[in-house]
Amino acid sequence: SSFEELGLSKAINDGLLAMNFKKPSKIQERALPLMLSDPPRNMIAQSQSGTGKTAAFVLTVLSRVDLTKPTQPQALILAPSRELARQIQMVVQTVGQFCENLIVEAAIPGSISRETGVKSSVVVGTPGTVMDLVRRRQFDVSHLKVLVIDEADNMLDQQGMGEQCVRVKNMLPKTIQILLFSATFPDKVLQYAEKYAPNANQMKL
Ligand code: AMP
Repeated sequence: SSFEELGLSKAINDGLLAMNFKKPSKIQERALPLMLSDPPRNMIAQSQSGTGKTAAFVLTVLSRVDLTKPTQPQALILAPSRELARQIQMVVQTVGQFCENLIVEAAIPGSISRETGVKSSVVVGTPGTVMDLVRRRQFDVSHLKVLVIDEADNMLDQQGMGEQCVRVKNMLPKTIQILLFSATFPDKVLQYAEKYAPNANQMKL
């Protein structure tokens, strides 16, 4: 199988070439047709790092953003730490390097100017900071199309973060596509997934 068969844009394919990603990893091959489906489907994936899951959700996010409105937030990726949020931001920027006008911001403590607020196509953040920005009306979530929850087990396990993930989810458009990734599925993750990602396809990747 090849990336071409997935119907990604030329700009995205050029980004993959620049990264020297020649063909999809196993998980990308299985999950991408579902993640990219139209109408969008929710997905809950059990996957470890090292499998190519980051690129899988980054490709989906890049395919869904409308870059005629680059300052309108359209995709949100939640991660359990600032470091991971920064790493994911870099992957979005690298795979998306030929996507004209794409803007990617990290919503982590101290990263978003209070004056301008969030002005990017893709936002990668930690739950507490994202929650604060939305509450202060510095992050307009009304046009978000896709929500990625990375390392859900790790995130829901940390003090306060589970609650922040719930609060953030409740502020988002009802029709948003949810892609949840987790290495393990303890009760907390299962309950969150059942409640907030209804009718999701489950995949063990
Ligand atoms: P992850 O599972 O997201 O932590 O990714 C593991 C590693 O695989 C990262 O270093 C990626 O750059 C790399 N990677 C992801 N997808 C591909 C691909 N299709 N071809 C080659 N390398 C890849």
